[in-house]
Amino acid sequence: MTKRIHPNLGQAVATEPTEATRSWTSTRSRCHTWRVTIKPLSKTYTEARQAFLEAATTAGARLSEFPHDRSGPNGEELAIDVAEFGPADAESVLLIVSATHGVEGFAGSALQRRWLEEHATERPEGVRLVIVHAFNPYGFAWVRRVNEDNVDLNRNFIDWSNAAPAAPDYMDIADIVVPASWTETEQERTLGLLLEYLNEVGMEKLQATISGGQYEDPKGVFYGGTEPVWSHRWLRQWASDHMSEVKRLGILDLHTGLGENGTAQFIGANGPESEAHQRCCEWFGEVIPMGGENSVSAALSGDWLGGIGDIMPGVEITGVAIEYGTIDTISVMQALRADAWLHGYGDPTGPNSASIQAQVRAAFADDEPHWVEAIWGPFATCVDNAFARLDTTA
Ligand SMILES: [Zn+2]
Repeated sequence: MTKRIHPNLGQAVATEPTEATRSWTSTRSRCHTWRVTIKPLSKTYTEARQAFLEAATTAGARLSEFPHDRSGPNGEELAIDVAEFGPADAESVLLIVSATHGVEGFAGSALQRRWLEEHATERPEGVRLVIVHAFNPYGFAWVRRVNEDNVDLNRNFIDWSNAAPAAPDYMDIADIVVPASWTETEQERTLGLLLEYLNEVGMEKLQATISGGQYEDPKGVFYGGTEPVWSHRWLRQWASDHMSEVKRLGILDLHTGLGENGTAQFIGANGPESEAHQRCCEWFGEVIPMGGENSVSAALSGDWLGGIGDIMPGVEITGVAIEYGTIDTISVMQALRADAWLHGYGDPTGPNSASIQAQVRAAFADDEPHWVEAIWGPFATCVDNAFARLDTTA
């Protein structure tokens, strides 16, 4: 067995983002050449945050900042930043969220920034637009999918008045998913055991077992926590303070790491028969219910899109997660295992941290200009479609 199952990973990590230009010739006139500049993804959370704040300020947004009490790996300030446009008391609101899964914010933040830079004037007047930058700022800054408590935000929105769901299948393999030691020998041994398990149960079952969510191993992957975490509590408070006038809410939650490289899948939080799901399909086209047939995501509980209906009862909510593919599932899993080991058993600021952070970044963000360009179209179309549906004056 090879040590690195994704041979291109090192190369992908080493690729420096560059300002790239793409040109093509119009089919109508061979003399006419358009040039489009594709801005590279930010290298750090702080760079992404500054670019977002600059773009939002230039676009004339109302900005608010919600500081986190922890800091980034180099002492950086962390915060959720909110940029708003349109009437504060509008009944129709579009909410666009990045970095629910920290590291996935490199792509999400870039999409939010590009919209602010190029399309901020294209809003219908009566709709309020709320752009939440870095819902999980700690994970973004530390290049992790999870938050400061090793919690996956999309496993944390369960009903905490009941016992958290048990995950006996995960606990059976917990010590090989995230072993206490990450030596080459131990990586090889545990990956071998996991691949044996994969052969036995198949990819669907492996994905469901590992990524379905678990509440028993705080050092494991896809851990849901023991109570509502900081970002969860922030959303509840913010919604209660700022969303009381809302009657209709569209949501775009930006994710990466699942599916074919550069393709987008729209994932809904509601059952295929529900009215909310039907509405999602009317707004956005093909929306796949989470965990449904052909879904890149396993069935899971505790995602915030599924939980926001309880936070905002009576509001008509039409929301999708946009999921962009990066690299193959096994390589993504390897990155998450390494990251969980680093923060659970290793030294997150020690000598192993840079290579593991690079591995995680490569699993959730692709710095190739064609990828950065490919993720734009589906997002821009969703924003346009949501505005068209929310604009009752049209
Ligand atoms: Zn995600």
